[in-house]
Amino acid sequence: MADTQKVLDTVIIGAGPAGLTAGIYAQRALLSNVILEQEAVGGQIVLTDTVDNYPGIPHANGYTLADSMRKQAEDLGAKIVSEQAVSITRDPETNLFTTKTAEKTYVSKILIVAGGATPRKAGFEGEDQFAGHGVSYCATCDAMFYRNKPVYVVGGGNSAAEEALFLTKFASKVIIVIRKDHMRAQASVQRQLEENDKVEIRYLTSVVKLEGNQLATEITLKHNDTQETYSESYEEGGFGVFVFVGRVPATNLIKDMVDVDDHGYVKSDEAMSTKTPGLFVAGDIRQKMLRQIVTATADGAIAATSAAAYLGQHIAS
Ligand SMILES: Cc1cc2nc3c(=O)[nH]c(=O)nc-3n(C[C@H](O)[C@H](O)[C@H](O)COP(=O)(O)OP(=O)(O)OC[C@H]3O[C@@H](n4cnc5c(N)ncnc54)[C@H](O)[C@@H]3O)c2cc1C
Repeated sequence: MADTQKVLDTVIIGAGPAGLTAGIYAQRALLSNVILEQEAVGGQIVLTDTVDNYPGIPHANGYTLADSMRKQAEDLGAKIVSEQAVSITRDPETNLFTTKTAEKTYVSKILIVAGGATPRKAGFEGEDQFAGHGVSYCATCDAMFYRNKPVYVVGGGNSAAEEALFLTKFASKVIIVIRKDHMRAQASVQRQLEENDKVEIRYLTSVVKLEGNQLATEITLKHNDTQETYSESYEEGGFGVFVFVGRVPATNLIKDMVDVDDHGYVKSDEAMSTKTPGLFVAGDIRQKMLRQIVTATADGAIAATSAAAYLGQHIAS
């Protein structure tokens, strides 16, 4: 066995809403655990200024919400360490998981992977600068900030089309910017977009850059055939850019132990179990309908509860 301390009941990878909630429930089920986090505790929610749809905490600041989840987990005894999991193996004889970080090796009976998924960036100039201040990757989260304002939607796939349709309920105009000469969305959604007066679809077009001060004031686009560029200006904060060009689930370390769907999300059942006994997933990393804080926390609670049940049934302490 590794150069290690005791065998933990569970290692939790990721201290986003799913991992922190798994930590809270693991503590309450008296499972010894450690939560590994490679970046900021809170995961994606620390990127957002305002969270308006988490029940019970209206107008929450993302950072404050993340910090109160962290505090709740730590107050209950959860241990969060700033380490990145770099490899995971499972011993076929003992069924124990070994998780290595640069600093340490952790051995556990259960592994809960809550590593999330990161939105893929479109790659235009100013995208990072205005992320959260004009550039968004989540219509459900941010559409209401663009009520009666024009928005650009970048992407021509299904999720871009569906999110664009959702945005028509809020925005004054939805300009869909598609790199290719066609959309790759369900025919019915595409038809709804084409028939909606608020929607303008610009094929063979890419966003080149966003410019402004605190908030963006100008967007520059390019026609991909003619290479002609043109800019459109607004008052500060008078428009938004929603990027939907795919998401990358953090499945690298477990890809040989789980099944994934066509988009790379981990297939799991209602108990958050995967095809590997003792390996559970929670949050945005999973194949599911809605990737939000409320569903991530629910997954984390279920994963830790399932882990406790699994330990009781399969593994003697
Ligand atoms: C800009 C933005 C705004 C949003 N606004 C809202 C909103 O208003 N309302 C809402 O409900 N949802 C919102 N969302 C979606 C919401 O944030 C996610 O659904 C939620 O955070 C998913 O939680 P998670 O714990 O599954 O994953 P994440 O939040 O992605 O957390 C996963 C964590 O795992 C860590 N990790 C990954 N791999 C490793 C590793 N190998 N070792 C250690 N740590 C690792 C990551 O660093 C990350 O911190 C928003 C998302 C974004 C990007």
